[in-house]
Amino acid sequence: MAHPVLVAAELKNLLEPTQLVDLDITWLAADQPTPKGDWVAIVPLLSRWVGGTEFKNMPRLRIVANCAVGYNNVDLVAAEMRGILVTNTPGVLTEATADLTWALILALARRLVEGVDLVRSGQWTGWHPEQLLGLELRGRTLGLLGAGRIGQAVGRRAPPFGLRILYTARTPKPEFERETGARRVDTNQLLADSDILSIHVPSTPETKGMINGETLARMKRGAILINTSRGDVIREEALAKSLELGHLGAAGLDVYADEPHIHRRLRAAPRTVLLPHIGSATEATRRKMAAIAIENVQSVLSGKPPLTPVYS
Ligand code: NAP
Repeated sequence: MAHPVLVAAELKNLLEPTQLVDLDITWLAADQPTPKGDWVAIVPLLSRWVGGTEFKNMPRLRIVANCAVGYNNVDLVAAEMRGILVTNTPGVLTEATADLTWALILALARRLVEGVDLVRSGQWTGWHPEQLLGLELRGRTLGLLGAGRIGQAVGRRAPPFGLRILYTARTPKPEFERETGARRVDTNQLLADSDILSIHVPSTPETKGMINGETLARMKRGAILINTSRGDVIREEALAKSLELGHLGAAGLDVYADEPHIHRRLRAAPRTVLLPHIGSATEATRRKMAAIAIENVQSVLSGKPPLTPVYS
């Protein structure tokens, strides 16, 4: 008999029928509440909270196969207490997200959006030696707050641009250091020495609000801040204030604390490039993410261990 499974409806076009054999799928749109029922698996998007109430309403649930590498939308403690497995989609989105991070770095360093706006406005009067002067990357310092899969992939792209790399992580990364010349420092030094600071830590109780008024003040005047990890690592109002005051040079963000809402002061702040959470948005990557989420479900429902468990 086919297993009753709830799957985010937005993944439908990314999955092939052959991947869905033996599953009796109810497609659940992002704007619908999580229903009560006898589903044995759920494949949510990162925008759906799955916690104690949902577990109570789905008493036969065996696995939450999150379609994202971050899993801050799942109550892990409640899941573990009920013996429900939680999986994510690590690895397959690393390179796409690192590319997008670089798109932001280059866009801000070289004032791409201001240039596009100037041309579009019809106000461009021709080449000028002091027009839209940006930051020369060569010889500058890229700081990685978090150097796991994505942080390191961002770092590996940096040497050809002539950037020096500093990073923080809970554990040292000797191979990454050998490969790129990166140096592990403490957070204070990272903040003080980075010309570009790129955030790659997950959202956890320890990292929430890590970038706030006090830490922003410790960053170099004119530095560029990039965030393609999770929005709540930054206190958005403090970031807006730092940009307004001209302390921070620019900010490039893909993620926000309360998506799709963006703090109005941040939306209005100068020198930002604000993207709509598209870090992993290439067709190949999104297909792989959906595939891994479903493979985790298939594996667990056929009595095998999950491929990419969040905890073991
Ligand atoms: P990862 O491999 O787990 O790397 C996380 C890094 O953060 C590791 O270096 C880890 O240190 C460090 N870290 C964790 N907790 C920390 C703490 N409390 N203080 C300091 N450092 C800490 O994760 P990943 O695959 O690179 O993904 C990173 C995040 O990116 C995900 O959690 C996700 O939220 C986000 N993401 C966003 C998009 C997007 O669309 N914008 C796409 C993909 C991922 P250790 O190495 O020592 O453990």
